[in-house]
Amino acid sequence: MEFPASDQEYHINSNWTAPSGSGIDGEIAYNPATRAVDINISASYGIPGLAHELTHGAQFDRGQTDLKADGSGRGYLHDLTDEVSAFKRQFAINKKSVLNIDVAYVRGLHPTYQTMPSTSLTTGSYLHSIFMAHRIINPKVSYYPGTTLKYRDSKKTVFTGFVSK
Ligand SMILES: [Zn+2]
Repeated sequence: MEFPASDQEYHINSNWTAPSGSGIDGEIAYNPATRAVDINISASYGIPGLAHELTHGAQFDRGQTDLKADGSGRGYLHDLTDEVSAFKRQFAINKKSVLNIDVAYVRGLHPTYQTMPSTSLTTGSYLHSIFMAHRIINPKVSYYPGTTLKYRDSKKTVFTGFVSK
């Protein structure tokens, strides 16, 4: 996985312990104390899990996903197309097949994925697209007008609680 000339620091924690009851084996999260992006993998998640979470790290580096600045999770740009790419890398190693890995398949893997947008959202996406993608699955999500602004152009206003590249 290439992180060409990135000015973002990434920390790989390969002996990570998930919060009890979370039901997850790994994650990426912003670390407000170190300002690094932590790539966290439990020991049992192993190399396939490393491939999965490194994919998310590369997505962050490319502006394809964002993270909550307080370290508590993913942001508005986390979508099922990000997960399709990550599961393809993971399953190429531990299941030896990436056939049939699409948005519908990933949506069925974990309850978390049932409330995620199915379209690709990036820092180049318009606010309108981002919030409509979320509101389709969760009408309680606030809608911000300003449809001519892109995510990257509104970071200091709408997305102050998030970090992205
Ligand atoms: Zn993932």
